[in-house]
Amino acid sequence: MQAYRASILWFAPSQGPKVCAHWEDDGLLVVGTNAAGVQVVHAVGSYSSLIEDYPLVPVNHLHGRILAPGFVDMHIHYPQTNVIGSPADGLLPWLENYTFPEEKRFAEPEYSTQAARFFVDELFRNGVTTAMSFASSHHQSVDALFNEALSRRLRLITGLCLMDRNAPSELLNRAAPGNHLDSTEQSLVDSEALIQRWHGRGRLGYAITPRFAPTCSDAQLRGAGQLAEKYPDVWIQSHVAENKHEIAWARALFPASRSYLSTYADFGLMRPRAVYAHCIHLDEDDRYLMRETGAAAAVCPTSNLFLGSGFFDFEGADRVGYKYGLASDVGGGTSFSPFHTMLAAYYVAREGQTKTGLSLNPQHLWWQHTAGAAQALGLDGTGGKPWVGNLLPGCEADFVVLNPQATPLLARKTSLAANLDELLFAMVVLGDDRLVEQTIVA
Ligand SMILES: [Zn+2]
Repeated sequence: MQAYRASILWFAPSQGPKVCAHWEDDGLLVVGTNAAGVQVVHAVGSYSSLIEDYPLVPVNHLHGRILAPGFVDMHIHYPQTNVIGSPADGLLPWLENYTFPEEKRFAEPEYSTQAARFFVDELFRNGVTTAMSFASSHHQSVDALFNEALSRRLRLITGLCLMDRNAPSELLNRAAPGNHLDSTEQSLVDSEALIQRWHGRGRLGYAITPRFAPTCSDAQLRGAGQLAEKYPDVWIQSHVAENKHEIAWARALFPASRSYLSTYADFGLMRPRAVYAHCIHLDEDDRYLMRETGAAAAVCPTSNLFLGSGFFDFEGADRVGYKYGLASDVGGGTSFSPFHTMLAAYYVAREGQTKTGLSLNPQHLWWQHTAGAAQALGLDGTGGKPWVGNLLPGCEADFVVLNPQATPLLARKTSLAANLDELLFAMVVLGDDRLVEQTIVA
């Protein structure tokens, strides 16, 4: 066991839009190893009330620092690290001119390995301790990222990107030589083999990953839905309703479905642990479909602003009550930093389509990128499942050590904060990787 003395931020177990953050100015976080060999939180609270219960536990004194839950990034693409900041007119030309050419390089295992190492470094540098990431359509890229995450103890969910049409031929799923399966069947067999190799190993989870409906045939989506039924514990990740051209394309390809979103439901791909990136242009029936199926939205505000895709409707999501959390969506997103993502979410809620003048308060923003995102992923400890994104007893000990003095302006502004909201908002607006002094996992 060991303990950390600093200011501490965590969240009440009750979840939802009415977020309750806890703050302890002079706090103590006590962590220890559980039966599975993972470090978990034993106790959190004020130093004076807890220290007598742990007289023999060594204490790391982190004066002037803040401990906070590690961030949860619900949607990111590790093969797109090099694509960040690429100029394009919108989603479809951006895919064609930058993203697809880069993803082709992940056919090479060595390329995938070095990219995975840089990617995990960058997550940790920015305080991200749980990530749900796309890989490329090459199984080598999936193995490379899982291997790296396993050795670094990152809680990571990824999977083989499924696409059997409407993309460059080098990126389409391939049939194995000398095998009777066609490329679509092979992609499903490969996905199942990867589930068996990686899902539940260490802190890893598998996600069945149709890229988005337009790049998948009916047969591939149907097969993905059958896998999702066979492995209810495995995640599903995809994209939906990001951009109006994309929606028109999806509607033309799947005219029998009521909407783009319901295409996924029609193939058995909406259920708890299904995460859909963007969910910008949904109608009210779609919102209810999200709620009734237990699927979650990954809200990607820096990406949506960068590509001009639109504004996520926070008010609509809360009104209907479906699950969502924040995500970077690098390389469409412009930063690995959760602070940049939270600030962009604030802009989107302020300026978005609802025009209700809704403003996200800083505690709610922070919750959406930690405990709220973990809840949306099904990693909130219910049913004995792993618990991340918070610092309550029983949570895996994933946390960041923040230095509010990291820059002259941060030091000046945070010292003026009169309450928790002012302190958190100063960090949301002014923070980046410099604020994250250490990232500690499990
Ligand atoms: Zn994406």
